[in-house]
Amino acid sequence: MSELNLILFGPPGAGKGTQAERLQAELRVPLVSTGEMLRSAVKEGTELGLQAQRYMDGGELVPDKLIVAMVSARVEQDDARDGFVLDGFPRTIGQAKALERQLGGLSRRVTAAILVNVSDEEVVRRISGRRVCVKSEHNYHVDFDPPKQEGVCDQDGSRLVQRDDDKPEVVRKRLAVYHELTEPLIAHYDKQGLMRWIDGTHRPAEVHDHIRAVIATLRLEEAV
Ligand code: ADP
Ligand code: ADP
Repeated sequence: MSELNLILFGPPGAGKGTQAERLQAELRVPLVSTGEMLRSAVKEGTELGLQAQRYMDGGELVPDKLIVAMVSARVEQDDARDGFVLDGFPRTIGQAKALERQLGGLSRRVTAAILVNVSDEEVVRRISGRRVCVKSEHNYHVDFDPPKQEGVCDQDGSRLVQRDDDKPEVVRKRLAVYHELTEPLIAHYDKQGLMRWIDGTHRPAEVHDHIRAVIATLRLEEAV
C-alpha cells in the first residue's frame, strides 16, 4: 500500500489529540505529537526541554529551528517509513516548507492536511474543561467526556490534571498565535490541493467518522 503522510491541524483545543488517539488505533502509522514530545522533553529536563519551556508557558510557539530538528529526526525513523500522522506540526509556513524539503529529499510528499475546525468560543469551552492524565496524556473533559471516576484516568488509573498552559490568559495568547501564524497554512495547502476541512463541532465519534471517510477517499485517489 502507498504511504500516508498526514497533517492534522486546527486551533488549540479543537480535538486534534482526541482524534489522533482514535486514528492511531486504526492506522498502522505512528502518531507524532509535537506538543507531547515537547512536554516530555521539559519533564526530562533535556536541552531542548529547557529551551522550549518558556515559550510553551507563555503560549508562544517554540522557534522553528528547534521544532524542525525534532520532527525531522522523528520522521526519518523506521516506523514512519509507510507514513505518519503529525498532530500539531507544522504550525508556521516556515515549518511547512521545511517538512516539504525534507520529504522531497526522501522522494516523499504530504498526502493531505486535515483541518479540525471549531470557533474561538468553543476552544475556550473545551480547553477550560480539559484534563489530561499525568502518565500518558489521555484526554478528558469535565463535562463533555468525563472519566468514570472523577480525577482518575479510565485507561491507566493515573491522576488527571489541568495543563499549565490551559489557563485562560495563556489560552487567549495561543489562539492569537494560531490565527496569526498557523491559519495561513490553510491557503498554503489549499493551493497545492491538499486541504481537507472537518467540522470539529460534532461529537468525537462523528468527527472521527468524517476523518476516516476523508482518509478512505485519499487512499482511493492514491490507488487510481
Ligand atoms: P494545543 O494543540 O492544545 O495548542 P500542543 O500540545 O499541540 O497544544 O502544543 C503545546 C505547546 O507546545 C504550544 O503552545 C507551543 O508552545 C508548543 N508547540 C507544539 N507544537 C509546536 C510547533 N509545531 N511549533 C512551535 N511550537 C509548538
Ligand atoms: P487539541 O489536541 O486540539 O488541543 P484535545 O483533543 O485535547 O484538543 O481536546 C480539547 C478538549 O476538548 C479535551 O478536554 C477533550 O476531551 C475535549 N473534546 C475533544 N473533542 C471534542 C468534541 N468533539 N466535543 C466536545 N469536546 C471535545
